[in-house]
Amino acid sequence: MIYGIMAAMPEEIEGVVKLVENPEVKFIGGREYTIGTIHDKNVVVVFSRWGKVAAASTVTTLIDVFHVNQIVFTGIAGGIHHDLKVGDIVVASSCVFHDMDTRPLNDRYVVPLINKKYFDVHVGARLLENLQGMFTSNNIVSIVGQEWVEQFKLNEVMVVNRAIASGDQFVNSHEVRNDIINNLSDVACVEMEGAAVAQICFEHDIPCTIVRTISDSADHSASIDFEPFAKYVASNYSIAIVSTLLSD
Ligand code: SAH
Repeated sequence: MIYGIMAAMPEEIEGVVKLVENPEVKFIGGREYTIGTIHDKNVVVVFSRWGKVAAASTVTTLIDVFHVNQIVFTGIAGGIHHDLKVGDIVVASSCVFHDMDTRPLNDRYVVPLINKKYFDVHVGARLLENLQGMFTSNNIVSIVGQEWVEQFKLNEVMVVNRAIASGDQFVNSHEVRNDIINNLSDVACVEMEGAAVAQICFEHDIPCTIVRTISDSADHSASIDFEPFAKYVASNYSIAIVSTLLSD
């Protein structure tokens, strides 16, 4: 069993790369793939870069060249659902492209030929429970540090299993946010890679696990909240999430 572990931003993956034991590095298509083990599990860890194309090409390399059996994606996202706050975790139950639109040939959001709006995403039996056990009020200080717990009010982290929407757009306007809320009402958060990962994994019949931490609320304040969260918190969240997933 080999896990392909990826994230779209350097901040989200650099801590995970440091966990790799006996690392060996290969460069393909502008990406640096680190091969080795974490908690005795075989892994290939890579910074995929932002957006759907970058994610899809990286997943394809992980599958075709490194023969991974499961993809794990960890990263940050804009919260869409009103009950989610910065620091909460969404484990994807399914993924949809909010920018896929081939009307009038197909319904909005439907991926042509595959004829699907939503791609179901794998969730390990105990993953939600284990993440809830990891991100408790007692543990959160040791994961991210007291200063950031206070700054981002991370005392009560919620872990939910919900749908995620992806598109090649940093969502920071009420207009786009409301369009997603009104037309994809089950979506919890928005980001730029998950559905691309889910589509490639569906086509190759490989399970993927997609875990997103809310960094902003995908509205006018998104770019202000997003940067410090990405810089100071995302890396430690990724380390805790990947460790939880691989120690199951
Ligand atoms: N920092 C980069 C831009 C990152 S784009 C730059 O300056 O060029 C945002 C990344 O965070 C993407 O990988 C996306 O998946 C995620 N993300 C976080 N909040 C988001 C939001 N509100 N809308 C879309 N993607 C978001």
